[in-house]
Amino acid sequence: MKFSEMQYERPDINKANNVFENLLQKLQNAERLDDCLAAYAEIDEYGRYVSSMFRLAFIRNSLDTTDAFYAAEMAYCDEAGPKLQEIKQKITEALLRSPFRSELENRWGTLMFDNAELALKTFAPEIVADLQEENRLTTEYDNLIASAQIEFDGKVLTLAQIGPYRESSDRNVRKASAIAVSNWFIERADKLDTLFDSLVATRTRIAQKLGHDNFTKIGYYRMQRNCYTSDDVAKFREGVVKYIVPLAARLKAGQADRIGVETLTPYDDPFQYPDGNPAPIGTPEEIFAHGKKMYAELSNETAEFFNFMLENQLFDVLTRPGKAAGGYCEDIPLHKSPFIFANFNGTSGDIDVLTHEAGHAYAAYMARDIYPSALQNYSSETAEVHSMAMEFFAWPWMDGFFGSQTAKYYEYHLAAAITFIPYGTAVDEFQHIIYDNPGMTPKERNALWLTLEAKYRPWLVPDGIDFYEQGRRWQAQPHIYENPFYYIDYCLAQIVALAFWAEAQANHDTAWEKYRRFVSFAGTKTFLELVTDSGLPTPFATENLKIVSDAAVKWLDDRN
Ligand code: ZN
Repeated sequence: MKFSEMQYERPDINKANNVFENLLQKLQNAERLDDCLAAYAEIDEYGRYVSSMFRLAFIRNSLDTTDAFYAAEMAYCDEAGPKLQEIKQKITEALLRSPFRSELENRWGTLMFDNAELALKTFAPEIVADLQEENRLTTEYDNLIASAQIEFDGKVLTLAQIGPYRESSDRNVRKASAIAVSNWFIERADKLDTLFDSLVATRTRIAQKLGHDNFTKIGYYRMQRNCYTSDDVAKFREGVVKYIVPLAARLKAGQADRIGVETLTPYDDPFQYPDGNPAPIGTPEEIFAHGKKMYAELSNETAEFFNFMLENQLFDVLTRPGKAAGGYCEDIPLHKSPFIFANFNGTSGDIDVLTHEAGHAYAAYMARDIYPSALQNYSSETAEVHSMAMEFFAWPWMDGFFGSQTAKYYEYHLAAAITFIPYGTAVDEFQHIIYDNPGMTPKERNALWLTLEAKYRPWLVPDGIDFYEQGRRWQAQPHIYENPFYYIDYCLAQIVALAFWAEAQANHDTAWEKYRRFVSFAGTKTFLELVTDSGLPTPFATENLKIVSDAAVKWLDDRN
């Protein structure tokens, strides 16, 4: 079905609650396996219908923010969504307690039940007020960051708007903009400390009400960690320090050389090339046409996927007045359709839409017929492997996007992937120590951040910029306030994506076949099962990170 023909109707919250309530009775009263299966099938189908209405409202609102109808529907859905949580929770509990559970597990596997158990561990009625407090605090952080008004270059800028000055070819401009940002954060240091104090205290209280000493375990449950523990992550961190940090240091030394500075400061860090970052050639229409050619040539499935997206109007990537900012990939389960939203602007970000976001969409497309639909969903490490690996599988077609700058793009892309990992791992280790020791003072936290910077990014010299000198850089990382323990997922996924990249360097076709298989399982296997099933090295063994770093070192050596 074409996107324009997909019908929207308001998912009336009282009606939805009643429907779910009746289906819950059916599930609970099932006397035979067949009745239980029939009741669950209805729950699954109705759930897909309701969430599709929410997503249609969201997508259509973002396509035209001036359309009053969808603005109102979006507001209704925002309000209605949380009100369905309670009945959904009851259904999950009924499924877990079903007398037919072992028959269901034989049919569907145990994973969706394990995941449901994990989800239940994160909630109890006693913590409702604390969850509301947590939401209030994260929203306050969000609003504080969004409200930034920084006077610079004769203008008043937001943090996003001052970003491009950090990449200016004039070092004085870069430094001045970094100081302006630093001053903004330093002026709000007390507020940012207090907010974080309250968040740590609230999350610790939640954990204790749920029967744990501290928040770390609950953070893992929230992230649906069903196949690895914090000990496994500690082994990953050792591998990062041993093999990825030295490689990143080499890349950063190369960058310093290229841009002609002795030491790399925070205001040099984003400035990669004296003549600017690699930028795509051609109009947005030409870029899009080359994307189509790429997916047609990559494999039969990607050709079919891309045509499906085009035929059903599932891309909206050109900028126009009234359209929301940013980009995303959403899924409309009722119509088994992913949807890609973007605003092409002539930077390499346009290509990311066609590789990274399309990787997410391809995965959703491949999972569209899996039942129950709970098994179509995967945790975020798996999702980011889908997208980050697709960025690398697209390499052979990059000359059509970047022309004479293709070699530069390869280097830029690989360096960005590798140098992100130490930073991301520092963010994760910081959170482990913070939540394991909830009594730490703001001063102790900043001192901790400085030791982690020295461990993971030893090349970075603060050079008198207070925000960095005082160990406050972490306060600009929204995930630390808003999504505890999320960050390591990007690092784990990036290592697996790089392992696919290394395989593709040797043989593109066999590497692609493994990736296709990885994607095809969707959420029917855990992240770790998917990695080992693909014959890739698990990131939770310290020495395995050497495989990735060796491949990158060889690639870099061969170029020089
Ligand atoms: Zn992504």
